[in-house]
Amino acid sequence: MTYRDAKGKAAARLRAAGIENEAAESAFLLEYACGADLNFYLLHQAEEMPQEKKSHFFQIVEKRCKRIPLQHLTGVQEFMGLPFFVNEHVLIPRQDTELLVEEAVRVLREELDDSIFSSPNPDISSVSGNYVQEEYPISKLQDFHILDLCTGSGCIAISLKSFFRHAFVCGTDISAEALEIANINAVANHTGITFIESDLFSKVSGKFHMIVSNPPYIPSAEIPALMPEVRDHEPHLALDGDRDGLAFYRRITAECPDYLLPGGYLLFEIGYDQGEAVAALMREKGFEDIEVIQDLAGLDRVVRGKLPYNEGIKGPHSQI
Ligand code: GLN
Repeated sequence: MTYRDAKGKAAARLRAAGIENEAAESAFLLEYACGADLNFYLLHQAEEMPQEKKSHFFQIVEKRCKRIPLQHLTGVQEFMGLPFFVNEHVLIPRQDTELLVEEAVRVLREELDDSIFSSPNPDISSVSGNYVQEEYPISKLQDFHILDLCTGSGCIAISLKSFFRHAFVCGTDISAEALEIANINAVANHTGITFIESDLFSKVSGKFHMIVSNPPYIPSAEIPALMPEVRDHEPHLALDGDRDGLAFYRRITAECPDYLLPGGYLLFEIGYDQGEAVAALMREKGFEDIEVIQDLAGLDRVVRGKLPYNEGIKGPHSQI
């Protein structure tokens, strides 16, 4: 069997198993299993595939046909230009979530430039992945505290830390198994993060300038209809947002004022139809400058709000 025949046969198997972009997946698995990247394939496609490579390739294709996510086969997903190890205990980082990180970075840069520091000039510039990072002077950032709730693989906390090297970044998760992966990812990406096993804020103390979270937000009844890769292989703990999908937004929004400094930001990733509901929850708790931000597909994806400096006066329960 030639490389071309193997690639075609694998694509047909994948298609029959209900996988839609079978040609691209077959090419990707050929590269992953045998190191046969596009250049190699174009040069050698008509050659006979060695038996050993062929059986290794089809073993992996069969696993994928069982709808095991690609990332569980390769063990890695890229996020914000950084590599993240994943397994069945963590949500695979999604491209959608990059919007949350980008918005957090934008807000922090604005704050750092406008209000906290007078000089907008970063001291050092460095590059990680495709993203140019600006590093602000150590002395000015070391007291900047960011909290990532439901950190999972750690992708949000770690990418924020890689943008703001001298900020204090803390990530929490209720799952000890997830935190093991988050710790591995922090080390692999040369970032020092404080991870705490905690049910949201339960083990957290102190106040933060920014709280971010991509909590579980799928209504429980919708979980059986998810694609098999997600439903059967990703942790339900990371997906299930209870009856209406909003349980974690409610809890976080209610408890967060005790952990957010006045003027601090709360940013959530949300499901495409949750923008209004989550914005309303934040409004009820007295957040200001609430904005629902769309992703490139034009769908609501992030909600951002700011705790007022003068909470007592501007809060909804104020008598003034
Ligand atoms: N923060 C992680 C991510 O965005 C995990 C989110 C979760 O488990 N709900 O990928």
